[in-house]
Amino acid sequence: MTTPAQADIGVIGGSGFYSFLDDVTEVPVTTPYGEPSDALFVGELAGRRVAFLPRHGRDHTLHPHRINYRANLWALRAAGVRQVLGPCAVGGLQEKYGPGTLVVPDQLVDRTRSRAQTYFDGEERADGQRPNVVHVTFADPYCETGREAALSAARGREWEPVDGGTMVVVEGPRFSTRAESLWHAAQGWAVVGMTGHPEAVLARELGLCYSSLALVTDLDAGAETGEGVSHAEVLEVFRENLGRLRTVLFDAVAALPGTRSCGCADSLAGFDPGIALP
Ligand SMILES: [Zn+2]
Repeated sequence: MTTPAQADIGVIGGSGFYSFLDDVTEVPVTTPYGEPSDALFVGELAGRRVAFLPRHGRDHTLHPHRINYRANLWALRAAGVRQVLGPCAVGGLQEKYGPGTLVVPDQLVDRTRSRAQTYFDGEERADGQRPNVVHVTFADPYCETGREAALSAARGREWEPVDGGTMVVVEGPRFSTRAESLWHAAQGWAVVGMTGHPEAVLARELGLCYSSLALVTDLDAGAETGEGVSHAEVLEVFRENLGRLRTVLFDAVAALPGTRSCGCADSLAGFDPGIALP
């Protein structure tokens, strides 16, 4: 079964990114990995077809450790998407990266522990198909073209972004202890989040371009001197910055090239994945 292409760019983020677009079509997608976080919300932006997927569900009921990341990336690819932007909220690990900082990371450290993070585990799927084990290259986890689009979009709106830096992704749902946070900061890592992985590696396994726009909503426990993060503070800073993040995101969509010249599409070159990709 093939699904007609609905979109070529995917945005994984909250409902605040698409809710005011004209003419958004809701496209339900099912996958061999179960249900994605929600239907895809497909609309047109800067002449491109864009599929928005609310990472936490439209009512924000899915917490980071409960998100079906495999279904989400699979659903986007099944809809025709080949380039993905993953905006997310993060904590700053360095004092210079305070609330309102926009980081376009170039590296990632995975400290999640209970999330399925491969399609190619050699295990039989529910539909009887069995993927082979594939070892994709992940030295540079983000698409450089996508990063450039995000950086130029931010600069164009006079929001000077941090170009590069490491995002450490923790399991959650709790925030870090002070010791964990100090340790992350001591490594020189820039920001800490809960959703940036395994999104990145699953996109790579499917040959998708993936890059992240990480909005700092608070200083993590090791980088500030108070009581640590509260969820209410995080939400407040996110709300304050949503408008300009949306503007930058839309400019980044417009800046993505129609034809890919990066190597992301070749991530499975030389491997037999054993299953057909959508
Ligand atoms: Zn790419």
